[in-house]
This record gives sequence, C-alpha cells and structure tokens, in this order.
Amino acid sequence: KLPTIILVGRPNVGKSTLFNRLTGTRDALVADLPGLTRDRQYGTAVFEHRAFVVVDTGGLMPESQDPLAALAEDQARLALDEADHVLFVVDARSGCTPSDEAIARYLRRLGKPLTLVVNKAEGQPPAQAAADFFRLGLGEPQAVSAEHGHGLPALLRRVLADL
Ligand code: GDP
Ligand code: MG
Repeated sequence: KLPTIILVGRPNVGKSTLFNRLTGTRDALVADLPGLTRDRQYGTAVFEHRAFVVVDTGGLMPESQDPLAALAEDQARLALDEADHVLFVVDARSGCTPSDEAIARYLRRLGKPLTLVVNKAEGQPPAQAAADFFRLGLGEPQAVSAEHGHGLPALLRRVLADL
C-alpha cells in the first residue's frame, strides 16, 4: 500500500492549490470561495522515485455552524484516520488565527506524524513567514508557496524521510 499524506487546515489556506501542485492535476477545485472542496480528493504523486497518495479535504472548520461544513469535517476526520502523515496547512498572509489554534489542539491529540506547512509565503524570507506559527507547538513550520512552487522539494524531502 502506498503511503498516504493528507492535507488539512481551515478553508482558503491553499490546500487544493498544494494538492494540484503535488499531484500535477487540476482535479481539486480552487477558488476564492472558502470551503469549496466538500469531498475528499485523492491523487498520486511521485517525488525522487517515491510514490505516495495525496488526499485533499474540505478542511476543518471548528467554529462553523453550517451543516455542510460539518459534513466536510466528518470526511476530513475519516480520511485523517487512514493517513500516514498529516500536512497541516496555514496561511502566512493571515497569520495564526484562533481556528488554526483549535485545529492544532485537535491534531496534537490525534498524535499522527505531522508537518506544519506555512503557505502563501512568497515575497518574504521563509523564517519570517514561519515565525508566527511556532506558537502552535507543532514543531518547525515549513514555509512554501503552493502557487509558485517555492519550498515544495524541501517539504517533500522532510515528509518522505518520515514515512
Ligand atoms: P483551500 O480552501 O485551502 O483548498 O484553498 P485553495 O487552494 O482553494 O486556495 C484559496 C485561495 O488562495 C485561492 O485564491 C488560491 O489561488 C490562493 N492561494 C493558494 N496558494 C497560494 C500561494 O502560495 N500564494 C498566494 N498568494 N495565494 C495562494
Ligand atoms: Mg480546497
């Protein structure tokens, strides 16, 4: 069975953009509308001769009262159970939010191998993009730009070394 990497995080942080980058497809829906990807999306990727499965999710929305949001959350939790490594995606532009902190608490309890991915980090030094997210207590954040492809080889080397 191929190792599985799952993308989670609040809506609009760039999970689907990262999914498309990693899998080389345009299958996942990317939009300015938060929470557009309601269902799980599966794709395969190869990096440095290693194949793995990438799962995109509709995201975790700890504060939402929308039943559709709850559905997406159930899907994400189901998929999380099956995953070998979690990529927790956050947004360098918005900085660390209360939703990020709530998701971080949930993921810490889950106890799965995890990498904190600070997306939208283009245009600033990686260390600066990452600085606000150390407080989540999930280790050293990895700064990337899914849109521009920055930081992805370093991210994948780090994740695959752990699989
Ligand atoms: P999701 O809801 O987490 O799946 O987020 P999406 O992938 O749908 O992206 C949400 C918005 O963020 C879209 O407008 C993307 O174009 C934008 N976005 C994604 N990645 C980046 C990035 O690396 N840099 C910037 N500036 N915008 C990004
Ligand atoms: Mg999405």
